[in-house]
Amino acid sequence: MTIKTRFAPSPTGYLHVGGARTALYSWLFAKANGGEFVLRIEDTDIERSTQAAIDAIMDGMQWLDLSWDQGPYFQTERFDRYKSLIEQLLQQGQAYKCFCSAEELEEMREKQMAAGEKARYNGKWRDREDHPEGQPYVIRFKNPQTGSVVFDDKIRGRIEVSNSELDDLIIQRSDGSPTYNFCVVVDDWDMGITHVVRGEDHINNTPRQINILKALNAPIPEYAHVSMILGDDGKKLSKRHGAVSVMQYRDEGYLPQALLNYLVRLGWSHGDQEIFSREEMLKLFTLEGINKAASAFNTEKLVWLNQHYIKTLPASEVAAHLQWHLKQQKLDISEGPAIEDVIQIQADRVKTLAELVSVSRYFYEDFDEFDEKAAKKHLRPVAKDALEKVAEKLNDLDNWTTEALHTVINQTAEELGVGMGKVGMPLRVAVSGSGNSPSLDQTICLIGKQRSLKRIALALEFINKRENS
Ligand code: GLU
Repeated sequence: MTIKTRFAPSPTGYLHVGGARTALYSWLFAKANGGEFVLRIEDTDIERSTQAAIDAIMDGMQWLDLSWDQGPYFQTERFDRYKSLIEQLLQQGQAYKCFCSAEELEEMREKQMAAGEKARYNGKWRDREDHPEGQPYVIRFKNPQTGSVVFDDKIRGRIEVSNSELDDLIIQRSDGSPTYNFCVVVDDWDMGITHVVRGEDHINNTPRQINILKALNAPIPEYAHVSMILGDDGKKLSKRHGAVSVMQYRDEGYLPQALLNYLVRLGWSHGDQEIFSREEMLKLFTLEGINKAASAFNTEKLVWLNQHYIKTLPASEVAAHLQWHLKQQKLDISEGPAIEDVIQIQADRVKTLAELVSVSRYFYEDFDEFDEKAAKKHLRPVAKDALEKVAEKLNDLDNWTTEALHTVINQTAEELGVGMGKVGMPLRVAVSGSGNSPSLDQTICLIGKQRSLKRIALALEFINKRENS
């Protein structure tokens, strides 16, 4: 048997972290077992489905690199198929027309509630032939009235629901459109889905869906219902907790590798291992390893993982993801050091890619002024000698390497009989504009000779002006 899973979002909003985690688990399970992964857009709710949401979901999947083997399928393109199966169920006596009006149903509900019973459809039209002419109707599925539905949830274990708990579900509305639960069943069957991995919020639909599958003589897939994600306050994760859209994490400077690693661990474990490359996830992932309990979102851990991946991924890979941020922050890197070299020396100093760009500007662009605090502290008349001397030596230096620059800075301090800091700090502020930069020799090496000398000259000018004002 070839394993086939699906991700079946309703396009009523962006791809949120909960959906992304479900997609990841579904994708991993298929891919870890040599199977296939299907993307299905459940757009039957025409009022609430939008093209923007469809695009946002696919963008999110692409950014996370969760590629699908089939689809995207759209339920709205499959209405004929649903209708013909509804017709078949009617013919076989496994579905029926119900002519109850909204008022009648409401009355039914109120009576049941008043009697302390569970509100449910009472089966009024289940076995009737005396259909009124020209009146609107819905079509209901004839749910079995005895016995129970049993399934072995891969995460939650054996679940049994008595059929007496389930009323006759509407499968076609009065406007002729098929309802959600019916479409899911037909799709899972037609698409050959062997394992349904989805959110716990659908667990109540499963017994109903199994009954419909049985009526259609379709095979029953395995089910795995994944728990909720909660915010760090124990409440269901929502916008209140900050970013929940996958693309917002991209915008804030997270690497997809970090978010994927975060999401895989959020509800799944393999011993106490925290770091999982995509290859390792594929090697180790099992549905049985998914936690039954809800998991709490922890931004600090995501940041930690992001730092880990910024530091450890090949700089070229980080560079690929940096492009978007460079554009966003309008930093032109066409003139200046290779971005990979800048990444290498900045990697362990930043938490996000957005930050990486904003602290790397001086490698590519001249700045208008020195950071006020740093300049006040380090660009003082006493620093003139050091800056002049180091500029002279840099000017004479042909071999522009980290090692040679290191020697130049050391020699300057030695010749002036001062500590390294007395040369290093003014020089750092001069070339980078602030008191923060990676190691000075590496920084100057990447900034380049011309730019460094020009900036030291500007710093000296700044000191002179200050002296004379
Ligand atoms: N369309 C449903 C949702 O977005 C998922 C249904 C399913 O996975 O069966 O919640």
